[in-house]
Amino acid sequence: MADAMQDSRPVILSLAGFSKSFGEIQAVDNVSLDISEGEFLTIVGPSGSGKSTLVRLLAGLESPSAGRLLLRGRDITVIPANRRPTAMVFQSLALFDHKSVGENIEFAMKMKGVPPADRKARVHELLRLVRLPESFYARATTQCSGGERQRIALARAFASDPDILFFDEPLSAIDYRLRKALEVEFKDLHQRTGRTFVYITHSLEEAMVMSDRIAIMQAGQIIQIGTPEEIYGKPANRFVAGFLGEVNILEVAGGHFAGLDRPAPANARRYAVLRPEALRPGKGDVTADLTVVQRLMLGSRTQLFLRSPTGAPLISEVAGDAPEFERGTTYSFGFSPDNIAWVDE
Ligand code: ADP
Ligand code: MG
Repeated sequence: MADAMQDSRPVILSLAGFSKSFGEIQAVDNVSLDISEGEFLTIVGPSGSGKSTLVRLLAGLESPSAGRLLLRGRDITVIPANRRPTAMVFQSLALFDHKSVGENIEFAMKMKGVPPADRKARVHELLRLVRLPESFYARATTQCSGGERQRIALARAFASDPDILFFDEPLSAIDYRLRKALEVEFKDLHQRTGRTFVYITHSLEEAMVMSDRIAIMQAGQIIQIGTPEEIYGKPANRFVAGFLGEVNILEVAGGHFAGLDRPAPANARRYAVLRPEALRPGKGDVTADLTVVQRLMLGSRTQLFLRSPTGAPLISEVAGDAPEFERGTTYSFGFSPDNIAWVDE
């Protein structure tokens, strides 16, 4: 559904053949991408894959070694950041600690010569937008919690009423519970404002929660782009599959699942990617006796780390606390080839 929605929306930002090198290092390598008006696009990749460089190029904080950037069809490749209708939120937030919350949010407006009364009214509006009380106007930023500081940085980013907001790992330094709450708030803010969000994270889990589309980056290139469902259901290769978290990757050799000693279906490719919840105790089209090596309780579900008779490691996830699966016990597990995502490399 998200896909159909995107197709009908006009393109806001189009990059073609975008590259950036620092000496020998090719940080961004020939990236082409269309971002739709109002989309929440998340770029995911491991550290050093070029995410920050790419978003800095998009925001105009860095100039490309090659390639073009179009905003609604207009070439803005050489337009500096402060003359683009975009704003950026960094991991560090970069708040001025010697200034009040209000002064932080209205800083850019002050620079532009907006009169004080208008600035104050706008700051109140922005505080409401990010769900902070108006009384925060005069508060010192040093007296705000991590979550409040996040919202202040967001309010400041919205102050210029940007069409596109760029986020570079804004939640990566925040503890788990607050991060989960803020992910929901980001998504909510995106829906309420209808603006285009381009968000960077190294956490695919975070991307899954918020995004219309996810782009996976590896070594300066976008190696897969799609809806969360597409990435989850059809990872392009083992690298992407590995990013999905704990998954089974079964190699196929000589028409058999190596490590299971069972025949693979006719449509088999080089590797079978099987999610832990698709490997179930009991029956299946493909079954094998597997020994429980480790049992990890995750609240409402349990992860079982298993080993096949030939020593291949596998992982299954079952509902509840599954007390019967004691370490050292052997059970029959099975799966359906319908649940396999096949990859070639
Ligand atoms: P990510 O944000 O995914 O961690 P970066 O975009 O920060 O990745 O970095 C990509 C690559 O480019 C890395 O190898 C990094 O060391 C290099 N790089 C980034 N910025 C610079 C710079 N200003 N000078 C030299 N190398 C850089
Ligand atoms: Mg980075």
